[in-house]
Amino acid sequence: MKIAFIGLGNMGNPMAKNLLAAGHQVNVFDLNTEASGALASEGAFVASSLEAVVNEVDWVITMLPAGKHVREVYLGDHDGGVGLLKMVAPNTRFIDSSTIDPDSARLVASEADKQGFSFVDAPVSGGVAGAQAGTLTFIVGGTDEGFNQAKSVLSAMGKNIFHAGKAGDGQMAKICNNLLLGIIMSGTCEALSLGIDNGLDPQVLSDIMLQSSGRNWALELYNPCPGVMPNVPAANQYQPGFMAKLMLKDLGLGLEAATSSESPIPMGTLARNLYAFHLANGYSEKDFSSLFAFYRQRDDA
Ligand code: NAD
Repeated sequence: MKIAFIGLGNMGNPMAKNLLAAGHQVNVFDLNTEASGALASEGAFVASSLEAVVNEVDWVITMLPAGKHVREVYLGDHDGGVGLLKMVAPNTRFIDSSTIDPDSARLVASEADKQGFSFVDAPVSGGVAGAQAGTLTFIVGGTDEGFNQAKSVLSAMGKNIFHAGKAGDGQMAKICNNLLLGIIMSGTCEALSLGIDNGLDPQVLSDIMLQSSGRNWALELYNPCPGVMPNVPAANQYQPGFMAKLMLKDLGLGLEAATSSESPIPMGTLARNLYAFHLANGYSEKDFSSLFAFYRQRDDA
């Protein structure tokens, strides 16, 4: 397959590498030319514009920060910039793996459909480690046909590929997952910090909770306390990973969804507020597990 990959950040870079490793021909484009240029040595064609990246491709995959970027890239901007849907050849298929609001995903899907293109939302879970290992979970929203076609491409980058439902449902399921992740990370930071304040060794406490009822994904794979686990952002000055500002965005998406469905989400709202304070302390571009530092502010005093 010939694939255009747009957005080569923390996730897009390893995902595109796995497509190349699977034998696909990959064109890449990012507004940040350093990010796209890093793929040249891996065998990708580094394009200098949206028009060039989608030239004669079978598939387009986008991995962008938020809904506004996805809307602009697919539909164009208010300054007359043209979007992807007006640039590609007939039969081109689209996959958006960014985490965005379901309304934007539905809007792009419906515009694509009007122009005869297949589009699925396919946000991911598994983080940078999952992207590097090719073990991501894809959570797809779209038609049965769109899902079945997309699976052939997604399988080069992921292990579990779920069909959540119609257009936008992939995003909604991902938002529920990240609401839970934000709560779990906050709770894990809180429990570890309480233990430290009361004389416990965080390594020993982590081992105990891992074999007890507090066991969770953060303790298993992403311990937020420096010195407990190697090869996680906490072991590397909280270099991302998954930036705290993206977690705040996702918790905000949860809040928007809850407002529209009148659902109570007190825990998610609290986690969102914790992240908002944490960003205000200068942690926006640090990994989201750096929330641990929010609990340990007295260590800096
Ligand atoms: P990132 O900020 O590292 O990468 C995004 C890239 O998109 C950047 O390189 C940026 O320059 C590029 N970009 C922005 N606007 C563009 C445009 N108009 N045209 C071309 N390129 C453009 O973010 P990331 O961590 O790779 O995350 C991407 C998406 O995946 C986000 O929606 C995030 O919430 C989601 N996500 C991230 C993780 C993670 O662990 N990092 C995990 C799951 C999902």
